[in-house]
Amino acid sequence: MSKNILIINTGGTLSSVMKESGLAPGLTTIDMKKELHIVSGDTNLEIEDFCSLDSANIFPEDWASLASRISQVRNDYDGVVVIHGTDTLAYTSSMLSFMLQNINIPVVITGSQLSIKNPVADAMENCRCAIHMAASGIPGVFVAFNRKVMLGCRASKVRSLSFDAFESINYPNVATISSLGMRIDEKAIPARSGVFHLADSYSTEVCMIKMFPGIHSSFLESLVDQGYKGLYIEAYGIGGMPFVKHDIISTLEKLIASGMTIVVGTQCPYEGSKMDVYETGRRALEIGVLQAHDMTSEAALTKLMWILGMTHDTKEIREYFSLNIAGELSETYL
Ligand code: ASP
Repeated sequence: MSKNILIINTGGTLSSVMKESGLAPGLTTIDMKKELHIVSGDTNLEIEDFCSLDSANIFPEDWASLASRISQVRNDYDGVVVIHGTDTLAYTSSMLSFMLQNINIPVVITGSQLSIKNPVADAMENCRCAIHMAASGIPGVFVAFNRKVMLGCRASKVRSLSFDAFESINYPNVATISSLGMRIDEKAIPARSGVFHLADSYSTEVCMIKMFPGIHSSFLESLVDQGYKGLYIEAYGIGGMPFVKHDIISTLEKLIASGMTIVVGTQCPYEGSKMDVYETGRRALEIGVLQAHDMTSEAALTKLMWILGMTHDTKEIREYFSLNIAGELSETYL
C-alpha cells in the first residue's frame, strides 16, 4: 500500500527565487508541487507551508512550533519531510531529535544548494532521498542530503557551496544511495526507548563561543550580567583552554559559582573532546565544566538549551547532559 507522506516547507535555497535584494525563499509548496510529485515515487504526497525563511532567520521558537506541528500529525502520516535552509538545518535537526522524544514515524529534514527550479539543482535528488526515507517506516529524526541519510543529531554542514554539504560527525551514515539502491545501516539507528512525547521546552539563555587567542575574561564575565545561564565553548583541540598569562579557566570557575552551566567541546569537526589528557583540559574539568565528548556543536548547544528549558537544578542538568538522548553521544562515554 502507498505510504502517506507530509512535506512541510520552511524555506531555504530549495524554495528560493532571485529578488532585487538577493536570493531568498519565495516558492510555496503549490509552486513546487510539480517537481515534488515527480520525485514522490509511489507515495501519496501532501504538502504544506510552515514558513518561508532563509534558515538564518529560523529561531528556537520555530523549532518548538515545528516540533508541535509534527507531533500533531504523527498519527496521520507514515512519514514527514521538512524542507529547510541548509545554513541552520543541523541546529533544527538536532533540536527536533530532542524535542520529538521517541517519535513513531520517520521525520526527514532536507534542503539543497540550488533552487528546485534550477535545472542543474540537487533539490530534486535530495527530496527524492528524503521522501524515500520518510516512507521507510524507520522512526527517528534524520537528515537526507546528497544521497546519504544521517541522524539528525549527528549531521553538520561542512561545505558552503558543494552538493556534498553535510556529513555525519563521529557516527556512521544511517543510509546511503548507490547503484545498489538505498542501503540502510540498521545498527546505526537508535532504538526507541518508550512512547512518544513532545518535549518542546527550551531556554534561550544559552550562549555559544569559540575560544580564541586574545579572548577577554571581562567578555565572559559579562555573559552573567546579560542573563545567560548556559555556555557552550568550542575549545582548542581535545578541549584545552588558557590559564597561564590570562586565566580564563578561573573566570569560568566564577561563572560556574554564579550558577552558569558550562559545556566544553572542540573546534575540530571530528573526533571530539578528551579533556583529561592535557593540563589545559584537566584544570577545566576540575572546576566543573561538562564535556561534549563526540557530540557535534549543534547537538551540544541545542541539548543544553533543551535541558535548561526543563530544569535549573545543577545535579539534574549534569545527569541529563551525560545521557545519550537521541544518538548524539557515543556509548563509550556513558
Ligand atoms: N541561506 C540558505 C538558508 O540556509 C542556504 C541554503 O538553504 O542552502 O536558508
